[in-house]
Amino acid sequence: MSSNNKIIFIDNVKSKESFFCTMCKFPLVDYQDFEMSKKYLSCHDCYMQFIEANKKNWEKGWRPDPGQIKNYITKKKSIIIKKWGKLCHLTLMKSIF
Ligand SMILES: [Zn+2]
Repeated sequence: MSSNNKIIFIDNVKSKESFFCTMCKFPLVDYQDFEMSKKYLSCHDCYMQFIEANKKNWEKGWRPDPGQIKNYITKKKSIIIKKWGKLCHLTLMKSIF
């Protein structure tokens, strides 16, 4: 038995919402991240770091250079690691006492 039917997928979704920041590549986590992503394709942190102070230039097409973004990602990762370290420490202390 053979069939020559083809299945065609039609994607009618007009706006594709991303779940990741296009600048730092971190996942979008909260409402502010998604709102900034719709407007600027960035998370709230990247908006605060790069865009807010350079809004006029941003609208003219300016973007931070890859080195600036790389440094920022390194800082952001170290902050997250420190926060998780404290959280893990607190959890450990609670489980001991
Ligand atoms: Zn970001």
